[in-house]
Amino acid sequence: MATTAFAQLDPPSRMLLGPGPSTPHPRVLAALAAPTLGHLDPQFLEYMDDIQRLLREAFRTQNALTFAVSGTGSAGMEACLVNVLERGERVLVGENGVFGGRIAEIAERLGCDVTRVHAPFGEALDLDRMRDAIRETKPKLVAVVHAETSTGVLQSIPEISEAARSVGALTLVDCVTSLGGVPVELDAWQVDLAYSGTQKCLSCPPGLAPVTFSERAVAALRARKSKVSSWYLDASLLLNYWGGERAYHHTAPINMLYALREALLVLREEGFDAAFARHRACHESLMAGLMAMGLGSPVAPRDRMPQLNAISIPAGADDLAVRKALLRDYGIEIGGGLGALKGRIWRVGLMGHGASRSNVSAFLSALEEVLVRAGVAVERGRAAHAAASVWPYDK
Ligand SMILES: *Cc1c(COP(=O)(O)O)cnc(C)c1O
Repeated sequence: MATTAFAQLDPPSRMLLGPGPSTPHPRVLAALAAPTLGHLDPQFLEYMDDIQRLLREAFRTQNALTFAVSGTGSAGMEACLVNVLERGERVLVGENGVFGGRIAEIAERLGCDVTRVHAPFGEALDLDRMRDAIRETKPKLVAVVHAETSTGVLQSIPEISEAARSVGALTLVDCVTSLGGVPVELDAWQVDLAYSGTQKCLSCPPGLAPVTFSERAVAALRARKSKVSSWYLDASLLLNYWGGERAYHHTAPINMLYALREALLVLREEGFDAAFARHRACHESLMAGLMAMGLGSPVAPRDRMPQLNAISIPAGADDLAVRKALLRDYGIEIGGGLGALKGRIWRVGLMGHGASRSNVSAFLSALEEVLVRAGVAVERGRAAHAAASVWPYDK
C-alpha cells in the first residue's frame, strides 16, 4: 500500500497586519491548549457565566441575552438578522463597504424588503440621508457597520439609532472590527442588536461571534409569527443553554470559549481606555510614517478608524507584487482592497495584540524597502523618525 508522507504541522511565523485574523495574544493561545471539559461541566458553566459578564462589560451593555455564537463574525451577523426578521419585513441597511452589503444580502435571503442607503466606499454614511430614509421607509430594523474593515471607515452610531428609535425601529450594529479597538457604547447609543468576531481586535483566533440582544430585540424575537428559520442560530434555543436551564443544544466549542474568556481578561487587565489609546497611537504613528514616505489614505482623517488603515497604492506600484514581497521577504501579511477599492488600496490592520509600536516600525521599514526595490518613487529614510516622533508614550 502506498503511503503518503504529510509534513508535520509547522506554520511559519507571520506578522498578521491584514484585515483579520490578527495575531492572537500568547495567553490566548495557551488557553486554547488547556484540557477540554464537558460542555455541562460545572467548571465550564462558570466560565460561560464569566464570558457573559465580560462581554457585557466590553459591549457596555446590561443586556441579559449576551453570549458567543459558535461561528465567525458572519455567523453573528446572520444570528442577529435571522432571529428578529420575518419574511416581508422592511429593513434599511447603510452600505458603504462590503460588510454592509453582506448584511443586506442576508436580509434579502430571509425574504425581507431591503432598502440600501449607499455611500461611496471610503466614506462614512451621510447622516441626513440615513435619517430621511429611515423616516420614509419606517423599517423594522436599521443596520449599519461601525468599523467597515473593507474601507477603514468608522461610522458614528448615535444619530442613526436615535432616528431608528423615532420610528420604532430596532438598530443593529456590526462591531466585528470595532470591539476592543475603539469605544463601543451599546446602551448609551441605544443599540438593540450587535455582533462581533474574535479575530480582529480581541486578539483571539477566528471562531466565535459575541452577540447581544436588548430587551426590545428579545421582545421582537418573542413576538414572531413564524419560527426562526435557522435551527442552529435560534437564540431562544441557545438561551436555554447560555441561560438558566443549561439544556443541550449543540456542543459548545469549549477551547475557543477558553480563548475568548482569556482574551477578554487580557483586554480588561490592560483597561479598555488604555487599549483604545494604544490603537490610536499606533494608527497615528503609522500615518505619520506613511506621510513622510509620501503615501496617504483615501479616507478623510475624521472618518478613519485606528485599527484598519487604508493606504492609497502609489503610482507605479504593483498591488499584488508588493503584498507578495512583504509576505515572502518579511513575513508580513497585509490586505488588498475589496469591491470598488480593489487594486486601489492596501489594508493594514493594527488590531488587538498586533497594535504595537514594533509592528508599526517593522511594517514601515519593510514597505519602504519593498517599494524602493520595485522602483516606486517614495521618500527614503524618513518614515521611522516621523513615526517615532508622534509616539505619545515617550514624552
Ligand atoms: C471580518 C468582518 C466580518 C465577518 O467576519 P468573519 O469572521 O469573516 O465571518 C463582518 N463584518 C466586519 C466589519 C468584519 O470586519
